Amino acid sequence: NIRMRERAIKQGLKLNEYGLFDANEKRLAGTEEEEIFEKLGLPHIPPVLREDWGEIEAAAAGNLPNIVHPEDIRGDLHMHTTWSDGKYSAEEMVEASRKRGYKYIALTDHSKSLGVAGGLSDKDLMKHTEECRALDAKYPDIRVLAGTEVDIRQDGTLDYSDELLAKLDFVVASLHSGFKQDRATLTARVVRAMQNPYVRVIGHPTGRLLGDRDPYDLDLDEVMKEAARTRTCLEVNSNFHRLDLNDVHCRKAREMGVHVIISTDSHSYDDMLNLPYGVATAQRGWIEKDSVLNAKPVEEMLAFKPK
Ligand SMILES: [Zn+2]
Ligand SMILES: [Zn+2]
Repeated sequence: NIRMRERAIKQGLKLNEYGLFDANEKRLAGTEEEEIFEKLGLPHIPPVLREDWGEIEAAAAGNLPNIVHPEDIRGDLHMHTTWSDGKYSAEEMVEASRKRGYKYIALTDHSKSLGVAGGLSDKDLMKHTEECRALDAKYPDIRVLAGTEVDIRQDGTLDYSDELLAKLDFVVASLHSGFKQDRATLTARVVRAMQNPYVRVIGHPTGRLLGDRDPYDLDLDEVMKEAARTRTCLEVNSNFHRLDLNDVHCRKAREMGVHVIISTDSHSYDDMLNLPYGVATAQRGWIEKDSVLNAKPVEEMLAFKPK
């Protein structure tokens, strides 16, 4: 708003809450904002982009981002079921996702070292995968991807062997422990996980819980550099206690050429409704549709990171 007023002054005009006026106090545009943008020689800037992050300069140069919208999201790639700590069965989550019109989903239950969350043993992971394949065959209108949210252990190794991960369609890797480690150790854990060819995305990358836990001490520059290099995505977790990445991180991801995945990390049907919070966070970070992996068709999405 201040920038808009400055722009008006430079053009010899005056902008206030009553409208846009010329030097003779003649009103050029009223309270309709589209009209004001037009008179100032700008395309309409959507409200989510009005953060004084250079949006007026971008608009004047015709470079406003083609930001992602909720209807662009084709699938949810981070969901839990009764296999671990989710409230509903795999089939119930598939049906709920079909109702939402998703083209694909990944069922990503917890891995074995997360005992508190009912993490799956190696053997159960294979049974889980079999169930995902059976559901995929049963519902031709939605692609059901067999996945996991594999723990990045405190020593930086993953909680399942590469041999097991290779049998899955979609792997999220997350930190759930060792948050007090120093910056170099935490960063090295995440970087090592991204170097694994099966890991497609880092879940809730900074670990913050709003009002409860600060983000852990991660070198995000280093993480994003490696994410771009290995074509590993970073998650925008839509849970309103997380919103992790946040909007500032999203802006950085955009600048560093990192793709994001906007997920709900659903443990119940209600959680699925959080998607718009994640999308709004990405929008405030100027994330474009092209940089959101789960806005792409399934084959393109799966081909993004080379194995
Ligand atoms: Zn998690
Ligand atoms: Zn999760």
